[in-house]
Amino acid sequence: MKYDVIVIGGGMSGNVAAITAARRGLKCAVVEAESRVGRKILATGNGKCNLANTDPCPWEAFNAPDFVKPVLSKHGLDIQKKFWESVGIALREDEGRIYPHSLEASSVLNALRAETERLGVRVITDCVADSVLPGYKTAGLEGANVILASGSNATMGRNSCAAAKPLGHRCTPIYPSLAPLITDKGNLKGLKGVRVPVSAKAVSERGTLSECDGEIIFKDNGVSGTAAFGISTDLARLGYPECRLELDFAPDYTLEKLTEALKKIPPEGFVHKEIARNVRASAADAAGMARVIKRYVLAGVSSGSMSLAQAACGGLERAQFDPVTLQSLVSPGFFAAGEVLDVDGECGGFNLMWAAASGMTAGEHVFGRRR
Ligand SMILES: Cc1cc2nc3c(=O)[nH]c(=O)nc-3n(C[C@H](O)[C@H](O)[C@H](O)COP(=O)(O)OP(=O)(O)OC[C@H]3O[C@@H](n4cnc5c(N)ncnc54)[C@H](O)[C@@H]3O)c2cc1C
Repeated sequence: MKYDVIVIGGGMSGNVAAITAARRGLKCAVVEAESRVGRKILATGNGKCNLANTDPCPWEAFNAPDFVKPVLSKHGLDIQKKFWESVGIALREDEGRIYPHSLEASSVLNALRAETERLGVRVITDCVADSVLPGYKTAGLEGANVILASGSNATMGRNSCAAAKPLGHRCTPIYPSLAPLITDKGNLKGLKGVRVPVSAKAVSERGTLSECDGEIIFKDNGVSGTAAFGISTDLARLGYPECRLELDFAPDYTLEKLTEALKKIPPEGFVHKEIARNVRASAADAAGMARVIKRYVLAGVSSGSMSLAQAACGGLERAQFDPVTLQSLVSPGFFAAGEVLDVDGECGGFNLMWAAASGMTAGEHVFGRRR
């Protein structure tokens, strides 16, 4: 049977693309490698699914604002709210982050599944589409259009950019983003499990590469937490150059003020007791301890495992796609949506926002025989 649209990947972007195309009367099939669709959606936002962000310029949170802007400005928060309402999901906001009102990722996935079923989209699970051949033929199916929505290999995903290679598409190198960082073990001694607010910087011989305020959680081989995640996004976009992390445990104090204060108050009065022990081990006087508290160095930063990342930096080369329609410039009728493209956003709902917006875009622009 020939489909108007074959969607490869039943994640956020693939489901939204299939719903959008099927609502236009197009005959759609979704091919999903796993035994059920949307597994990653269930893991998002610690199970609460941070769907979007109220930032008026969300494209600025991405590695490629110019590429992302046409899609996100046409399918911004208002359009996304309407989409979620249309599938039966009410939303709520918490400090600029948009969640389903239920705070349950499963309600989002259930709504997507119910809508694809209602629209008669054929969903084929346990089926890997490992290449797309001109025609279009993939996974034993034939379609007038293909939307590649295969996501990334971050956490439980797989890297399926290569499926588009037979069509002449290129993939950029992939690095873990929104991920823990590996560092040398020197200054990690005794800190495993310690969780503290910091001002963090990644610094190389070229200068400061990234800065982020947030939480650091010490591990036995590096650091996690929001500050590490934020820095990993910048480092991923730079291909993880050689650098060190510098943590400021007292950003509210200048070096001079902290030096004076440490003459009266011990380091335990400023930082976690395990950190204070390492500070005392590295410096004897107030000025030395202040320097260590303001600049605690973790050398030898490298990328953590893709299996612990929330997003992938890299993917299908953007220059080969029309940023307005997400149609391939080298193979008409082939589209890409979501994280399979070389598009990655910061933490805060931006990645799911892009997945939904790009899914809508591809679903609106596919063409085909009408039922
Ligand atoms: C733990 C975690 C928490 C996160 N939390 C948030 C959050 O709260 N907010 C946010 O904005 N972002 C979050 N993200 C990122 C967000 O989940 C992803 O950016 C988003 O899901 C990408 O959607 P997608 O449709 O492109 O890919 P995916 O959701 O990964 O879907 C791709 C689908 O394609 C399937 N597939 C892959 N290759 C093939 C193939 N060859 N054939 C058939 N099927 C294939 C996969 O099995 C998968 O089901 C989180 C990510 C993780 C890992």
